[in-house]
Amino acid sequence: MLLYNTLGRELQEFIPVEAGKVGFYGCGPTVYNYAHIGNLRAYVTHDVLARTLRARGFDVRHVMNITDVGHLTGDNDEGDDKMLKSAEERGKNVLEIADFYTKAFFTDTDRLNIIRPTIVCKATEHIDDMIALIKRIEANGYTYFAGGNLYFDTAKFADYGKLALLRSEEQKTNARVETDNNKRNSRDFALWFTKSKYENQALVWDSPWGRGYPGWHIECSAMSMKYLGEQFDIHAGGIDHISIHHTNEIAQSESSTGKSPWVRYWIHNEFLVLGRDKMSKSTGGFLTLQTLVDRGYDPLDYRYFLLGAHYRSHVQFSFEALNGAKHARRSLCDRVRALGKKWEKGRKADKTVSSDVALSYLAKFNAAMDEDLSTPRAFAGLFGLLKDAGKGEIDPSAALNVVFQMDEILGLNLRRLIEKDKETSGATDSVDDEVKAAEIKEIEEKIAERAAAKKDKDFVKADAIRAALKAKGIILEDKPNETIWRKLI
Ligand code: AMP
Ligand code: ZN
Repeated sequence: MLLYNTLGRELQEFIPVEAGKVGFYGCGPTVYNYAHIGNLRAYVTHDVLARTLRARGFDVRHVMNITDVGHLTGDNDEGDDKMLKSAEERGKNVLEIADFYTKAFFTDTDRLNIIRPTIVCKATEHIDDMIALIKRIEANGYTYFAGGNLYFDTAKFADYGKLALLRSEEQKTNARVETDNNKRNSRDFALWFTKSKYENQALVWDSPWGRGYPGWHIECSAMSMKYLGEQFDIHAGGIDHISIHHTNEIAQSESSTGKSPWVRYWIHNEFLVLGRDKMSKSTGGFLTLQTLVDRGYDPLDYRYFLLGAHYRSHVQFSFEALNGAKHARRSLCDRVRALGKKWEKGRKADKTVSSDVALSYLAKFNAAMDEDLSTPRAFAGLFGLLKDAGKGEIDPSAALNVVFQMDEILGLNLRRLIEKDKETSGATDSVDDEVKAAEIKEIEEKIAERAAAKKDKDFVKADAIRAALKAKGIILEDKPNETIWRKLI
């Protein structure tokens, strides 16, 4: 199996530390808000990777953290504390916020048929592990204390920046951009904050450096090594994590253990973009999975949409494209259902064909997945198989068997479709869905009316339509080529 390793920037044969086993850590969510559909792209990627490895017979231990302390709005220690800010805005305490959004996160990942990680670990429950790790880093001489905080001294770690290909000259001469004057070098980062950063931090713990709380990066080093050992196989996250978060994780882990490489394969997914912008939680302009559901999509339409692109390519989100995915998935479900009916009736193929043809499609599918998880090419294997099976050229039971094997990786719930025929695709049959469809049609008509008013420069009418929709809890957002809407949650 080949994986594109960010460390080395090339496709590499996957060879685990221990034969037959895989230690895999994927950076989890910061639970101060709902996950947006861009974040969910990262978790679908982790899921496809874990499923593929399992399908190849590996015993995968997948660990994911929940960040419920220490993450500031800027990944480099700048800005506000995300959890604290969210709690203040919502009039709740930090733990209530963390609990609410953690549950919301798993509701979303369950709906996307993402298999839950083997171990989910919360930062606030691993403070002792973080303190122990920081002590090791300190004992090895990689820290300094300034202004009440303990910092990692990046100049002391010769390999700093190897993942992001940062040049050391650049690193040294990098002008100070942040407001933290305690830092000797702009890339240095906090391992432990005391009250110097926030007088009123909600959650604080005693430590050798004073009462305070951990920096964001240390949790991933501490928890991954606790559950996967000091050197493990795969670490994943979005590409935004390469230059700061993952770079700092490597510095912490390798300086504490003296072992390199800490992680063998670094897997990074590209961004989901909306219009010209990367979707982002902190800027507020984001869509949630629930928004898509409110607009009549099945969460699996979104999963299908994501699988249609390679995880390392930019994906431009639009409702037009999502519609395409929705129809394609329904047609896939219909074809699988038809195959199920043939199989139920025990009808054999017209021509006698052995299961070799089905297996050749499976081989095609597997070859694509084994080449850096190439889902778009893998789909070609699935569609080819369904086409031939539809023509009666493959025995239905052999074909279905292969479809199910492919779906172990794709995760589109195709087996359940056969087992419970009414699931997923026939959604528009129910009364509820008819009401929803009528509601959606009305909103879309209003948006079209508003677009026409704007074209005629009748801004009073356009604003009135926006206000009327807002009163019903429908928020409009104008993008370069379309207006998108979401329901207030
Ligand atoms: P966060 O909760 O902000 O720490 O992000 C969770 C995960 O989502 C991380 O792996 C990020 O790299 C990833 N991510 C953030 N924004 C996007 C985006 N627009 N598209 C794809 N992945 C993203
Ligand atoms: Zn992390």
